[in-house]
Parts: sequence; structure tokens; C-alpha cells
Amino acid sequence: MSDFDYDLFVIGGGSGGVRAARVASATGATVGLAEEFRMGGTCVIRGCVPKKLMVFASEYQEMFADARAYGWDVQDGTFNWPTFRTNLDAELDRLEAVYRKMLAGSDVTVHDARATVTGAQEVTLADGTTFSTKHILVATGGRPVLPDMKNADLGITSNDIFLLPDLPKKILIVGGGYIASEFACILNGLGVDVTQFYRGAQILRGFDDEARGLVSEMMIEKGVNLHLGTNVLEMEKHEDGIWVKCSNGSEKVYDQVMFATGRTPNTDGLGLEAVGVDIGRRNEVVVDDYSQTKVPSIYAIGDVTNRVQLTPVAIREGMAFVETVFKGNPTKVDHALIPSAIFTQPEMGTVGLSEEDAREQETIEVYATSFRPMQTAFANRPDRVLMKLVVSKATRKVLGCHIVSPHAGEMIQLAGIAIKMGATKEQFDATCAVHPTISEELVTMRDPVRTA
Ligand code: NDP
Repeated sequence: MSDFDYDLFVIGGGSGGVRAARVASATGATVGLAEEFRMGGTCVIRGCVPKKLMVFASEYQEMFADARAYGWDVQDGTFNWPTFRTNLDAELDRLEAVYRKMLAGSDVTVHDARATVTGAQEVTLADGTTFSTKHILVATGGRPVLPDMKNADLGITSNDIFLLPDLPKKILIVGGGYIASEFACILNGLGVDVTQFYRGAQILRGFDDEARGLVSEMMIEKGVNLHLGTNVLEMEKHEDGIWVKCSNGSEKVYDQVMFATGRTPNTDGLGLEAVGVDIGRRNEVVVDDYSQTKVPSIYAIGDVTNRVQLTPVAIREGMAFVETVFKGNPTKVDHALIPSAIFTQPEMGTVGLSEEDAREQETIEVYATSFRPMQTAFANRPDRVLMKLVVSKATRKVLGCHIVSPHAGEMIQLAGIAIKMGATKEQFDATCAVHPTISEELVTMRDPVRTA
């Protein structure tokens, strides 16, 4: 019999926390989990899942024209936001119930309450109930932040977008990261007049230059009013909407302004510093390679640690934590070569080094091709695809793969396996093409476009 109420207490019911709780419980540990809001966290409730459903909804607009070009007698429809919202809410309720069922089936005790850390081995719920626990896992995620400017609270964030009673007619989206760029495309597809301001020279900073260049060009072509090197200077509430003065001097009124200017870890008021856990400059819980904090009984995973803010990474960190603490198999989290997709339109899939980063490291060969995809050629859409491999000249290993294409997310998952295994360009070439597909270009690019 343990001296503690729990072997593990997890704070936060998002993807990482739930997975860690279930896997730890399967080792025979007694596990409690506290969640103050809805089970499923950012990914399920206000992130990846509802976002992807909105992506699906927004893609139909172009499909009407495509279908007509293929001979179908269909008219452009109008999008009904309340219908989408009703179906979205029902789907999220279903998914939340699945999460709860999985936890119950795994014998994890769920506390629907906020929990704080009140000792190195003690947590306290909002109603004052205290539990002793051998280990604490902090998996409280992150939240969007508004920029530090006057009247910023007139704007909304990605949290609010799924809850709007009506779609705005005209929106300004501020930011150039994943969230800003994805929502600019989604809302544009749903028929909203979208303006996007990004303060830098090109959106999606850090990704391969050619890939993000094509994404931004196509976004503009599809109707997003993208302004680079531009930011909000002033905002005011006016009778007819939100008045915005921007850094290029122009003024305009929008129905909504959405800030997608980054996220911050949820560490406020958790009691971590008081028990000796280090909190970093960006509000993150500071952990080592094993997700352990300075207090040996307290670990943290996922967005609250501000390492790589992606659901599958949080899940893997949770699994590595269980291996380390409950299976006696110390396991570092592997953050190398993480494939990811940006669900812009066109979609972008990426793994490994950008051409720019690889060039800094060693001599490389770049293989790239760009063309119009077959499917939309009938409708004479200007869409273009980019397939790009960055290859080490010395070892022949593929260091990076960048795809801008329909279903790029699906493609990069598979290319990611080969690249994670250390495949060389010659091994890509030895793989027979699947014809006619877009992805066959990954194994048919014969000559480098440049050496750098
Ligand atoms: P990012 O950090 O990716 O982007 C924030 C953007 O806002 C940047 O373009 C940044 O500019 C800009 N910005 C920051 N502060 C200001 C300011 N004060 N005024 C104007 N612009 C500002 O954050 P996101 O919120 O887009 O996404 C957070 C994380 O969520 C991502 O890093 C990603 O890991 C994850 N995510 C993943 C998705 C996926 O896998 N498809 C989808 C959505 C999110 P600058 O570049 O100049 O710093």
C-alpha cells in the first residue's frame, strides 16, 4: 500500500496529460487527473480538431467550380455558419465524451476542477481538497496572448473564433505564424473578406523560403489581402466596427480583429515557483531532457514547457515520462526531425532543415520542381505545387523535405519516415514512382537545381 493518495497526479486534460495518465495507469500506478475546463485541451476543444473541420468546410468553395469543370451541374452555394457551429459543437461533445470514456476505462480518477501545486508531492483542488501524490505531471498547455498595446482587448484570438455567433464580413488577422495564416485561408474560403498583417518580410518565419513564398503568393491569389511589413498602430471601437490605423498609415474599419501573435504557457497561479520549480523567461516550466523539473517529483510536458508546440510532441513527451518514471527505462524525448503540416491553402508539409538552415551547416544539393496539379487544371485554377528536397552533398542524406500541395500533410507524414530513417537521395530514387500522383515527384527529380 502506497503512502500517497496517488502515484501520479496529472494537472491538465489535454492530449499530453491524458495520454500520460492512461499509460501510467496501465503500469499499475494509481492516477488522478484534474482539468478545469473541457477534457481534450487545446487540440480537441479549441485547436487542431475544430480548425481542421473549418479547413474542410472552407475548401468547398473552390470545389463547386471544379465540379462544374468536370461536367457536374452544380451552383455555388452559400455557407451557413450556424449549421456548421451546431455540427461542430456536437462533434466536440462526442470527442470529449470519448476522452472521458478512455480515462474511465483506464481507471484514471478525473477531477473536474482546477488544481494547483501546494507541495513537492501535494496538489490542491479549487474546493480545497488536498491529495498527496508521489509524482506530479504538469500538462497545463498554453493560451493565446494579445499584444501589449492600447485597446488590444477589442480583438479576439483563435479561442474565440469557434464560438462566434456570426461570421464577420470583414476581418483583420494580425500575425504571420501557423495560426494567423491558417485562419486567413479558412475565413477567406468561407467567404469572409480577409486582411492579414504580418510585421516581418514574409509569413511563416523559420520555414523554407521557397515554400513559404509560394504559400503566401497563392494565398494572395486566392483572395487574402496580405500586407507584409505591416502592423497595427492604433485601434478603437467605432459604431460600425473596429477602427484600425496601421503602420503604413492607412485606416480601415473591420467587423473583427483577430490576434494570432503567439501563445504563452499556462503557468500563472499554479504554485510552481513556491515549491522550487524554475519558470523561464517565456513563462515556461523549465525541464531537462527527461521532462523533469528542478523539483525531482515534479515533471512537465507539452506546451507548458514551450519546447515544440505540437500535439504529437506533447503525447510523445508524456509517453517518455511514463517510460522514465513508471517503467524504469529513462527515455529522452527525441525532438529531431519532427514532420509538421500547416493547413493553409495551399497546404504545406515540412520535415527537417530548410534550404537556408542546411546551407549554413554544410554543402547541399537542392532538388525542386513546381507545376500545376492535374486535378484543378480543368477549372483552370492557377494553383501550383512545390516539391523540394534538400540533400547533403557529402552523405547524400535527405536533410529536409518541403511540400506545398493539396494533401501535403498526408505526404509529409510518409516522407518523414524515410527521412527519420536517414534515407539518402539515391534511396528515394530507387523507390518506384506511383503514377499519376503529385508525390511521385519526390522520387523522380534527377538533377539538382542548384548546389549551395
Ligand atoms: P507563432 O509564434 O507561430 O506566430 C506568432 C506570429 O505573431 C508571428 O508571425 C510573430 O511575428 C507575430 N507576432 C508576435 N508578436 C507580435 C506583435 N506584438 N505584433 C505583431 N505580430 C506579432 O504563434 P501561433 O500563435 O501562430 O502558433 C503557436 C504555435 O502553435 C505554433 O508555434 C505551432 O507550434 C502551433 N500550431 C501548430 C499548428 C499545426 O501544426 N498546423 C497549427 C496552429 C498552431 P514574428 O515572426 O516577427 O515573431
